[in-house]
Amino acid sequence: MAQIGWLSDSGQNVPFADALTISEAQGSWNSIPHEVLVLIKEQVTRVRPEGISVTQLLGCPRKVFLEKSNDWFSHPIENWPALRGTLIHSLLEQTGGQNAEVEVRYEREYKGIKISGQPDSVRVLGKGKRRLIRDWKSTAKLPYYDSAYSSHQLQTNVYRWLLRLDPRFTEIEIVYISMEGVKAIPLKKGGTSRYGRAIVNQVMTDKQVEAYLDTRLIQLYNQNSSGVPIPYHKVDEGDLWNCDFCPVKRICYARAADEAREAFLTGDEVGRVPPRERKVKR
Ligand code: SF4
Repeated sequence: MAQIGWLSDSGQNVPFADALTISEAQGSWNSIPHEVLVLIKEQVTRVRPEGISVTQLLGCPRKVFLEKSNDWFSHPIENWPALRGTLIHSLLEQTGGQNAEVEVRYEREYKGIKISGQPDSVRVLGKGKRRLIRDWKSTAKLPYYDSAYSSHQLQTNVYRWLLRLDPRFTEIEIVYISMEGVKAIPLKKGGTSRYGRAIVNQVMTDKQVEAYLDTRLIQLYNQNSSGVPIPYHKVDEGDLWNCDFCPVKRICYARAADEAREAFLTGDEVGRVPPRERKVKR
């Protein structure tokens, strides 16, 4: 199951085919040009890899489950950031050269569970075993500080683990692209700055990556095998920033009410209920 259509500005669920029929005849639907709608539909209906991906590991696990087990609608503007990223990546795919693997999907098993991930590029540096993993992020504004966002650090550290690369010989870099320009931010490897300040090590060891997998991967796997998502009130506090951009929020909140009722009846503690929805102006 997956996204099967768009939410109109007035909140109606409109199947892809209906919206595209209108946009083809009139040039646009919901003020979005036909060409953009065609590209979005192509992107959101693309076949996803089997198993658990690195991207799924990083988001809200409940969202991963609900997206897979429901048909849903999303406003085209909510689809736009993903399409913007895909457009940039499709240009970068042409830039590999002899020393780099670009957009290759890698797999590794952990505790019998298959994980896959696709770093944007893995480049051989020099003639030895040094490698450079790069991930490109399209963003509205370039980061102000010289430190990559923590979710991007985590994602690329898992890629390094996935490729079984030695952290000592691996450089990791996040390249942010916006309308303002490009900013490449390497992950720091610890040490002391020239001003004598300690530099935090942002490159994780295998053990640290596996400690993360022990909570996150197992949680995702258990959801898939039991057919039951983790209840809303048990979603990690640190994952709730995803809610503002979550296409299955309506499904999640509706289900949360039943979960809270069940938990109440069994004497479980319900520490959190969904917030009241504010009307979004588009
Ligand atoms: S609304 Fe929030 S808690 Fe619910 S699935 Fe989406 S991201 Fe997760």
